[in-house]
Amino acid sequence: MTYPAKVEGIAITDKKDWLHPKKASYDLKTAGDRDVDIKVIACGVCGSDVHCAAGRHLPLFEDCVVGHEIIGEVVKVGPKCTAGVKVGDRVGVGAQSLSCLECESCIAGNEQYCKKNTVYTIASIYPDGSKAQGGFGSHVRTHEYFVHPIPKELDTVNAAPLLCGGITAFSPLLRGQVGPGKTVGIVGIGGIGHIAILFAKAMGAKVIAISRSASKKEDCLKLGADEYIASAEGDDWKQKFAGSIDFMLLCNSSFSKSNFDSLFSLIKLGGEVCSIGIPDMSYRLSISPLSLLGIKFGFSALGSRNEFQKMFELVKKNNIKLWVETLPIGEKGLHEAFERVENGDVKYRCTMVDYDKEFGN
Ligand SMILES: [Zn+2]
Ligand SMILES: [Zn+2]
Repeated sequence: MTYPAKVEGIAITDKKDWLHPKKASYDLKTAGDRDVDIKVIACGVCGSDVHCAAGRHLPLFEDCVVGHEIIGEVVKVGPKCTAGVKVGDRVGVGAQSLSCLECESCIAGNEQYCKKNTVYTIASIYPDGSKAQGGFGSHVRTHEYFVHPIPKELDTVNAAPLLCGGITAFSPLLRGQVGPGKTVGIVGIGGIGHIAILFAKAMGAKVIAISRSASKKEDCLKLGADEYIASAEGDDWKQKFAGSIDFMLLCNSSFSKSNFDSLFSLIKLGGEVCSIGIPDMSYRLSISPLSLLGIKFGFSALGSRNEFQKMFELVKKNNIKLWVETLPIGEKGLHEAFERVENGDVKYRCTMVDYDKEFGN
């Protein structure tokens, strides 16, 4: 069966064999008055899709379809939509699909921090019990507030990873007032770290890329980094860059091997460090209290509707090109994507394409 009766996606049908997702058909969430139906044309693969598929984040429901860097075409607009999207528009959906839209956080444009009614795009359940299914399927249905118009200048393959990876890097850089005259340290060069280098550079900052080994040096310099630190190779950098960073963004996927005391000694008095990761709580973060004196430590998650538009403007104005590989959507393609993202074998982001071939028109 096809949309609108049922939709099709590549689902985790067997939790024990999540690396081999299978085609399944399922219902979209119950249609709301402000919901927009979107025919998916591409979707990025994020590290948290893989964590989710493997059941590491939230308990998985049956036939769960992940994917939350969605680009698609609007095929239906709910009767009470007021945000202005029209049938045929190209739009994006990120990791968040609903918030209460009336609490203090939501009213202040911080809906990503709403604690009342947040529903994520994948592996989440709506208040009425219907399931949130993601972008590795033919269609998604999302509240208009979380449907982001994509400027026509942005290429679809390049735009998809902006919807989660991009906004996750952009929001803290924006709130950290990164710009000309500031020095930014980007720690952890993977999918999000590589975007953070591109963004911080485009925002006018001096960028220091920090990774454990020297293996990513060439890539980081190509991405625009001004300096590179291989933090596990030698000690010279500790003196050379001491007290030089205004804003440090932690994009590492694992904290277990990081030497935070040395890293934080690079931050200026009054400077800030912000983590976008959810620390793995199975071990203790070892930080000497002295290394934090005079600096601020914070966390950031996703971004707001307003920040999405500012990010798209930045990408458009500076013609920012992410490093994106593509794979065809389908059982085989998604298996390969999961396996490669799990092994950190992607440079540096992956977008699933060819939706028409898999799901038809
Ligand atoms: Zn709220
Ligand atoms: Zn994500």
